[in-house]
Amino acid sequence: MGRKTNSLDNIMSNTIRDNESGCLLYMGRLDEDGYSRISLQGKMGLGSQVVFKLSYGAIPEGYQVDHICHVRRCVEPSHLRVLTHRQNVIHIKAYMEKRHQRIKQLIETYPQISQCPLLITLADLEALWDCGSIANVKERLLTMSRAYPEEFFYERFEAGGSKPAVYAIGIHASLIDKLSNEDALRETPVEDIMTLVA
Ligand SMILES: [Zn+2]
Repeated sequence: MGRKTNSLDNIMSNTIRDNESGCLLYMGRLDEDGYSRISLQGKMGLGSQVVFKLSYGAIPEGYQVDHICHVRRCVEPSHLRVLTHRQNVIHIKAYMEKRHQRIKQLIETYPQISQCPLLITLADLEALWDCGSIANVKERLLTMSRAYPEEFFYERFEAGGSKPAVYAIGIHASLIDKLSNEDALRETPVEDIMTLVA
């Protein structure tokens, strides 16, 4: 066997199975963000990509490998899937949390949004979300409406050429419920759970 040829068996021999999540944790080299780094044909790459290729074949052009389990060092083939960059951004957990944060800020600052669509300028949203630019606000609104197609909508509100433009933003009650339930689930800190278990 040539030294530069890596195999799935070889990679798997360097993993530990997390029985609870089913994740196969890679015990070799990780990058600074905690993603596994594995060489394939002499080239170092993301472990998720290498394992995907060895398990399922080439990654289609324009697609990225995503961890369904959100565990960066996981190389369990069934936990990997390909997504377009846009889909990937929608599913990344950290981004999901940021989106939830933004929606919560909206609800806290403008509680009336839970009753009827909110009229707001992009400049006000930029300040609220600390976006840095109007273009970023637009991008975030777009991603939000893609992430919650049935529950988050926005539309430019045409009121006789008002300047600056006003937007109507609506959040469906089901999304508001989802976010407040999420808070309730988080209320028990990990340390308390540990005490209970101990
Ligand atoms: Zn996993």
